[in-house]
Amino acid sequence: MIKVFSNKLCRYLTAFLFLNSVILPVKSSSALAAWEIKPNGVLELRTKSNTNLKAYFQKYNQKYGDRFWVDFPGELKNPRIIKGNGPIKEIRLGKPNNGKTRLVIEFKEKTYLNPLTWRMVGLDQNRWRIKIFSPKYSFKKIGEGEVEKKIRSFKTNKTSSYTRKRVNDNLQLPNVKQNKFSVVIDPGHGGPDPGAIGIGGIRETDVVLEVSKIVEKLLSEKGVKVRLTRKNEVDLNLRPRVAFANNSDADIFVSIHANASRGKRRDINGLETYYFRGWRGRLLAKKIQKQILRVSPGSPDRGVKQGRYYVIKNTRMPAVLVEIGFLTGRLDAKRLEKTTHRKRIAYAIAKGILEYFSKLG
Ligand SMILES: [Zn+2]
Repeated sequence: MIKVFSNKLCRYLTAFLFLNSVILPVKSSSALAAWEIKPNGVLELRTKSNTNLKAYFQKYNQKYGDRFWVDFPGELKNPRIIKGNGPIKEIRLGKPNNGKTRLVIEFKEKTYLNPLTWRMVGLDQNRWRIKIFSPKYSFKKIGEGEVEKKIRSFKTNKTSSYTRKRVNDNLQLPNVKQNKFSVVIDPGHGGPDPGAIGIGGIRETDVVLEVSKIVEKLLSEKGVKVRLTRKNEVDLNLRPRVAFANNSDADIFVSIHANASRGKRRDINGLETYYFRGWRGRLLAKKIQKQILRVSPGSPDRGVKQGRYYVIKNTRMPAVLVEIGFLTGRLDAKRLEKTTHRKRIAYAIAKGILEYFSKLG
């Protein structure tokens, strides 16, 4: 059970961690340059640029308490143990094997941790952050070195989706030209048509409306004009949705849905994005699919597919229909019930859209 647990987390974290994957030569010195655990429970790391990190979590056993560790390439010079406070027992810096550096955070007994919600976010090419405990614990910061020190110069990677500007909390979205782009978001179903009904009665119409509204907010903050085909529980046929989009000057159309499997099989989960025609539609679908997968670890990639859905077939602009998970699937439904996950999905969709615009704009 512990294994499954830690594997799950590992998959989750690596999805975020393998963003930068230039591997340093084994002989080099540690890629860990500085670290700090803040009173709000956030661990910040500064590394060499383009470091490939791996993070793990393991539940307590007879020998150790709950542990979280990060492995860095390059060998640590002097292994050491630093005493913790609050929920943290101690921090150990070691070399698990030659050519590696490991930062281990061991928690005290009975600390409440929820590693399934943890995500390592790349703030920059050399900075990372992850929230590991709740600020309800009183904690005095511990760290070594300057985590905020900026690298003086690095070759700007034009396709990098990461910008230095922090939007809010730990979220970052790519910047695009202000007031240049416009999007129609189409929350599927509505009113008397609830769409898919999933485990525990969860309704597609509610899920996709909330996600759509968050996408609207995130994109608006980036200077993208957004219109929704519906803003509440109204009955709306497919034809007026298409007409609404075609009568607008929208650059793209994104219809948001959630799936149900035949026979309501709980073992079927996954994400998929459809387009009908054109390389632009396909590119948009790919960008969105990639991002939603990142925030849905363990949920299968059902791929980017061509589909003949009315709303993407009849809209004139590049159009996609995204299925953000199976409401009938055990894994997806449990997540989609929660606003925190809906926010993550919305963020991913917004990011996919912005990446599409920055590529074409
Ligand atoms: Zn639907």
